[in-house]
Amino acid sequence: MDKFMKVARSEAKTGLDEGNVPVGSVVVKAGEIIGSGRNLQHQTGDPTSHAELEAIRDASRRAPGQDPGELFKDATCFTTMMPCPMCAGAIIRFGFSKVVVAETESYVDAGTKPFMERQGLTVEVRREQSCIDLVESYYESDPEMGRIMRSRTRGQLKL
Ligand SMILES: [Zn+2]
Repeated sequence: MDKFMKVARSEAKTGLDEGNVPVGSVVVKAGEIIGSGRNLQHQTGDPTSHAELEAIRDASRRAPGQDPGELFKDATCFTTMMPCPMCAGAIIRFGFSKVVVAETESYVDAGTKPFMERQGLTVEVRREQSCIDLVESYYESDPEMGRIMRSRTRGQLKL
């Protein structure tokens, strides 16, 4: 696992310890992490508190006043789970060029991989067993969430 995905996984593990579905993300630009985040829904009650959006928010807070189109231009989002339609939309909207996904076994991707690829992004999918194990440990405590996350009927993009 590369150093960027290690940080994303560490964020996901913190999220798990906080009672969330474990998802972590980092924003990388020019070889540096400029933002990181994790799923915070359990503590915020905000359904938009997904890891990718939290990483985007963190990067934006670290660069006050910077135009988001410039900030995220040619950036890469390393994330432990395939982005959902909401996060994929933000990733496209702010001009990322690449998404690196740790694994695709624990979440059915709702069609976002081809969606992002059609917008010109490169989507690299890996198979990081330790990230799969993290999500599986969450699903053991919440099997219904596991069923929902693997369902092809939820949040599917009609493409
Ligand atoms: Zn999302």
